[in-house]
Amino acid sequence: MNDIPKSAALRHPEKAHRPDNPIQRKPDWIRVKAPGSPEYLATRTLMRELKLNTVCEEAACPNIGECWKQKHATVMILGATCTRACAFCNVATGKPDKLDPHEPEHVATAVGKLGLHHVVITSVDRDDLDDGGADHFVRTIKAIRAAAPNTTIEVLTPDFLRKTGAIEAVVAARPDVYNHNLETVPRLYPTIRPGARYFASLQLLARVKQIDPSMFTKSGLMVGLGEQVGEIHQVMDDMRAADVDFITIGQYLQPTPKHAAIAEFVPPDQFAEYKRTAQGKGFLLAACSPLTRSSHHAGEDFANLRAAREAELAKTR
Ligand code: SF4
Repeated sequence: MNDIPKSAALRHPEKAHRPDNPIQRKPDWIRVKAPGSPEYLATRTLMRELKLNTVCEEAACPNIGECWKQKHATVMILGATCTRACAFCNVATGKPDKLDPHEPEHVATAVGKLGLHHVVITSVDRDDLDDGGADHFVRTIKAIRAAAPNTTIEVLTPDFLRKTGAIEAVVAARPDVYNHNLETVPRLYPTIRPGARYFASLQLLARVKQIDPSMFTKSGLMVGLGEQVGEIHQVMDDMRAADVDFITIGQYLQPTPKHAAIAEFVPPDQFAEYKRTAQGKGFLLAACSPLTRSSHHAGEDFANLRAAREAELAKTR
């Protein structure tokens, strides 16, 4: 077995036997501010007090200094341990935690204390639960609605693979935005997202729109994993066929040497091309840049999404 930092081995036991992929130096166009502002520290303290997990920390998101300075944290419900083992993801994997029945109320308390106008709720995969955790999402949405009725809610859910009725239950709770990330092109699923199925994820997005055509849908991709530009364009077409409103595209960054290697640092002008192409294909909104993440600037993006739909509707009146 290769040497692996103890913390990485504990977080990713299924990856411990893999050969190392050396971490590459980031190019000049990827620079982030170091965390440490008073607001960052206050956000971290609140999350600890309420025993909440965030994807910002668990996924080692590069934007945490910027987002938490504005108290924008993305809460990760259903525990801190994921039942999948995707090759790109820094969230710990293994035997999942027992569900915390108070988590929905704690999330609602955090939303109130942070004063969020828009909140993003995501989760680990819970293949071990009969409903994949759908009921916990529903309870969390309801708790936020009760405590902060003016806060808009975005959910970023797992794929609910083989969990009959899960998507329907979450949509019935009426989040404002339903996000599910396709993450990469179908050719790379067996190595990057081996527990998932591309067409099942696409079908989820189509199903949300089928149940509630008024609900905004959103999906994201990481690039720099070895995909071709034409494959990204094809995924855009697939998303549009599923009536997805909003696409996000960002650079994949490798969390540890045990994770998938970066094939390429995609240059900024290629992100600009992706944005133009997405707009041309009819997405209401496209956020494409090296540091774009699903929940980055989600509040502002939601306002832009609503405005874009209004503008589209105005053309038909
Ligand atoms: S981009 Fe999303 S995951 Fe990253 S720090 Fe901001 S809110 Fe958290």
